[in-house]
Parts: sequence; C-alpha cells; structure tokens
Amino acid sequence: MINLLIMGKPGAGKGTQSKKLLKHYQLEHISTGNIYRDEIKKGSEIGIEAKKYLDQGNLVPDKMTNDIVWEILSKKDYPNGFMLDGYPRTRAQAEALDEMLCRLEISLTSVINVDVEDEILLRRMAGRRVCPSCGHTYHTDYHPPKLEGICDHCGHELIQRPDDLEESVMNRLAIYNEKTKPLLDYYDEKNLLVVIDGEQSTNKVFHDIISKLGEK
Ligand code: ADP
Ligand code: ADP
Ligand code: ZN
Repeated sequence: MINLLIMGKPGAGKGTQSKKLLKHYQLEHISTGNIYRDEIKKGSEIGIEAKKYLDQGNLVPDKMTNDIVWEILSKKDYPNGFMLDGYPRTRAQAEALDEMLCRLEISLTSVINVDVEDEILLRRMAGRRVCPSCGHTYHTDYHPPKLEGICDHCGHELIQRPDDLEESVMNRLAIYNEKTKPLLDYYDEKNLLVVIDGEQSTNKVFHDIISKLGEK
C-alpha cells in the first residue's frame, strides 16, 4: 500500500500531479478542496457552511475538515493506498491525521512538497480555469483546452474559481505561510519529506516525483 500526501502552496500543481499519480499507482484521491467544492455545488449543510470560508480563501475549521477525512479513511476503501491532497493544512490537522492513521494501523509512505516560487504561482492561479461539471483543470496559457473556454472532456463551459481572484489569492498565500508551511518541518523530522522542483513542465515534475519515490 502506498499512502501519499502532496503539499504545496495554492496553485503549485498539487491537483495536476495528484491526477497523474493516482493513475500511476491506482490510489484513492482524497482532496479536501474538491470535497468542499462538491458540497457547495450540492448545496448541502456542509457546503453552505464551507462556502463562507472558501470564497474568502480562509481555512474551514479543523474539526469539520478532520471529520470529513476520518469518514473516508476509516472506510478503508483504498486497496492500493491513498493520496491526500490539500490536507493537512494546519498543525492540528497533522496531529489529527497521525491519530487517525495510528487507529487504523497504517502509515504515510512519503510527503511530497511541490516547490514553486510566488511569482509563478500568481500566474498559474490567474490563468487557472476549471470545469464545474467534471472537475478537470486547465490553464489559459500552459494547458489550454482545445476549444477556448470549453472542457475537452465533457463540453461544459469552463469557469474561474472565485477564490482565484486577486484578493483571495493573496490571503491564501499568507495563510499558507503562517499555518501550512511549518508542516514541512513536521514531516521532515519524521523523515518523510520529498522536495520536488515544481517550476518545471508538468511531465517533468511527475517524472521527478516517481523517480524520487522509487529511491525510497
Ligand atoms: P488549492 O488547490 O488552491 O491549494 P484547494 O482546492 O486545496 O486549494 O482548497 C480550496 C479551499 O478549500 C481552501 O482555500 C480552503 O478554504 C478549503 N480547504 C481545502 N482543504 C482544507 C483543509 N485541509 N483545511 C481547511 N480548509 C480547507
Ligand atoms: P493546486 O492544486 O496546487 O492548487 P493545480 O494543479 O490546480 O494546483 O495547478 C494550478 C494551475 O497551474 C492550473 O491552471 C494548472 O493547469 C497549472 N499548472 C499545474 N502544473 C503546472 C506546471 N508544471 N507548469 C505550468 N502550469 C501548471
Ligand atoms: Zn468537464
């Protein structure tokens, strides 16, 4: 079983790399950001509560997020392992995750940090377009769809995430630096951290991850 965690600033390419890694290792994808966006779309109670935080680029409270992750992890419905994407984001979440894994008697294989400098991130987020129907992600310059503004996979019109607008982006970066960045040391101390240069092409980043994981 391979249990991975992918970390990186907003826009670093976590979602893009997760998609490739899932396919490669046949893993279960656990993306808390995707879960919240789905719940918002459904208009569920969780979605209504979460929307207040997502739109501003703030973190949803730890308790709510930990409960969601526990519900998925505790089902143990991931024969080849899982890929956590966008969780944990705070020290309290990392400790809660440790407790969950301990109860389930499983452990993390590696923690991947996709490293990208801020200026590049801002460009990535400004050009990010997503399909609200199937969740596929594009970039206006780097990964454009075949037909401008239309999803290659399902034909739906693409949108810009509300939290990719300037103000929210700056807030997300500040929150990352304050709350999430310290987790890199947390995992480094556990000897789990693998740092990847995320400023290369999507395929190069992917191959670096695969080769570094293979070395472990
Ligand atoms: P990005 O891909 O830009 O890093 P995500 O899609 O992972 O962002 O998350 C989008 C938003 O969902 C976050 O800004 C936050 O509001 C909420 N969210 C996602 N994961 C978590 C988490 N682990 N803890 C708290 N809030 C979260
Ligand atoms: P995250 O999940 O970390 O927020 P995404 O995977 O959604 O990041 O990527 C953010 C944006 O940058 C998307 O528009 C995506 O198409 C683009 N992107 C991702 N990886 C790369 C890369 N290596 N080079 C150029 N653009 C990229
Ligand atoms: Zn689509």
